[in-house]
Amino acid sequence: MGLLQLGTPLAWPEAKQAANQVREWGIEQLLTIWRKAKVKERDALLWGDEIEYLVVAIDDQQKKVRLSLCQADVLKKLANDHDLAKQGTLVPDLQDTILPDLQDNAIRSGSLPTFHPEFGRFMLEATPGKPWGIGFKDLLDVESDMKNRRVIAKQHMDPDQYPITLTTFPRLGTRDDYITPYYPPSGPALRSQFVPDEIANPHIRFPTLAANIRSRRGRKVELNVPVFKDKNTPNPFHDPTVNHDLHIWPEDDDVRNGAAKENCVYMDAMAFGMGSCCLQITFQAKNIREGRTLYDQLSPLGPVLLALTAATPIYKGFLVDTDVRWNQISRAVDDRTPGELGEKPLKDDRWRIPKSRYASNSTYIAQDPRLRPEYMDPNLIVDERLKQKLLDGGMDDLLATHFAHLFIRDPLVIFSEDLKVLDPEGSNHFENIQSTNWQHMRFKPPPPDADIGWRVEFRSMEIQITDFENAAFAIFIVLVTRAILSFDLNFYIPIPLTTENMETAHARDAVMKEKFWFRKDPFPRRSPKASPTLNGVDASKESLGPVEDEYRLMTIDEIINGTSSSSSDEEDYFPGLIPLVESYLDSVNIDVTTRCELARYLDLIRNRANGTLWTGAKWLREFVRSHPEYKHDSEVSEHIVYDMFRAVDDIGKNEGRKGWMISMA
Ligand code: ADP
Ligand code: MG
Ligand code: MG
Ligand code: MG
Repeated sequence: MGLLQLGTPLAWPEAKQAANQVREWGIEQLLTIWRKAKVKERDALLWGDEIEYLVVAIDDQQKKVRLSLCQADVLKKLANDHDLAKQGTLVPDLQDTILPDLQDNAIRSGSLPTFHPEFGRFMLEATPGKPWGIGFKDLLDVESDMKNRRVIAKQHMDPDQYPITLTTFPRLGTRDDYITPYYPPSGPALRSQFVPDEIANPHIRFPTLAANIRSRRGRKVELNVPVFKDKNTPNPFHDPTVNHDLHIWPEDDDVRNGAAKENCVYMDAMAFGMGSCCLQITFQAKNIREGRTLYDQLSPLGPVLLALTAATPIYKGFLVDTDVRWNQISRAVDDRTPGELGEKPLKDDRWRIPKSRYASNSTYIAQDPRLRPEYMDPNLIVDERLKQKLLDGGMDDLLATHFAHLFIRDPLVIFSEDLKVLDPEGSNHFENIQSTNWQHMRFKPPPPDADIGWRVEFRSMEIQITDFENAAFAIFIVLVTRAILSFDLNFYIPIPLTTENMETAHARDAVMKEKFWFRKDPFPRRSPKASPTLNGVDASKESLGPVEDEYRLMTIDEIINGTSSSSSDEEDYFPGLIPLVESYLDSVNIDVTTRCELARYLDLIRNRANGTLWTGAKWLREFVRSHPEYKHDSEVSEHIVYDMFRAVDDIGKNEGRKGWMISMA
């Protein structure tokens, strides 16, 4: 989440008027940043993770869990203790926690975790106090640092409040009092039937963001998730929580106009998407070239890691037929007009736009001779005028195309104070557009005022129930980047296939049941000396076969663990990401103890991919389906959710050093 600037936000009609000015100024700021930073070399290889929590209040008397809107209180308490920590006096009662060694760690490394606000007023985000370094030793500190963050967060909450790493609250938006303190739905910003405006962070940025998305769209956002059809689920299913008789806001007509679809759970507000928790990893590259390579090479892995981390089988009190959060967030911030969506003729808008602002990414940006023009997205929409400005400013075609694609969007939150004079050395207008393009990869230029390099963020993963799992996925992705750079691996496939994979990742149990497009041969080829390039893309195609021969559908098990050596069909050989990581570890100097410790984490990934261990989504779905109170009608009752959160808290407490292992048995 970007900086929370204060100011006077423009309502949509005025913001729309100022959109061009913000884009022009944003492009000028980008050019200044790029000119200054493109020559930066030898930045340290750093990385950092972000963990997001739901905060719930568990009521053991009533056997009920509520989302707790306590973000500001917790952050205030944490901030006060950070002051203490700076003077060398750490939270005293940390010493008595279940993990006494953690406090030592925090003191030793001299960096307490940092806590941040998020969209939901029931959310917290925590990052390491300073980014992790390149060393393997740092990888072994990640899990205990994550545990430490959870302990510190918990200690700044009331005794009945808990930081929980589930992606979504299973009963968000039901008719009962699922939030504390309670507020009734239907406020002026969200205009939701189901959630009050108070569900969102009260900072002016958030209600403005939600209101301007709704205004730009011309109706409320619309999320329809197919319900999971169990044996007693009504067929057809009509979401019984939808009210067709509300007449408070004009948007209440949405449902009368058919917004709620048959056989779906219907949701109508940004909070149903942006109230989800995820696991993000940011890498700093040593220079812009390496950053562009990582951006491209990690992109095809996005949907694979989404399916592997699947953890979202319940919405608004119903089991749904999908396992991940992604498309719900995508729809929850989809500000496209009916014209842009292709539902009506284009009148006032410039383009039909195929994807939401929150979607899988649509560009490749590396100046890599292996990047074939056939890989690019044929449906890419670009603001040609702004692209020309970037080209005139000296930027190359690939990067200019990337940013001119992000800049097709309108800025959503504009502060009137910012429109007076342009700060050419600033980044506020650039960040306005950049930070509201929520793609699964983000290419982050250095901030103008800090000694930070070019960074790439990997954004598709779902948050995991335990810190062991979150650490395992973070460590795995870090090691994959090391293998990519060390072996010069090539994962390029055409972008539309990654778009398709992202949809595939939503299917129930995709990790076991679906196949994903993936490149067959990841190893670099000795190519004849690269000929002059057109737009940074190699023009010497003669030596290459048809693009279609380069990829095939693979199971997640094949992608992660490789094809079995017994497989007779050489055509189908794929080495697997884990074996590639193992080869990388073999190629570097690493002591036995560290290697063994790392193996624990890699085992989790390996076993998730081969089905020995379940995804969180599968575990949660089975928890509901085997609960004595479940009526096999898809409904997830308050009591089931209470037992679920108690079980989740117990898993966290008991995971110990072994990690959480749920087997098929
Ligand atoms: P955002 O929410 O905009 O993605 P955050 O500041 O919340 O950004 O988190 C970014 C992550 O990047 C954190 O884990 C942080 O430790 C890490 N980080 C900070 N500086 C660097 C850097 N120079 N290189 C790599 N990672 C960094
Ligand atoms: Mg966040
Ligand atoms: Mg963040
Ligand atoms: Mg982030």
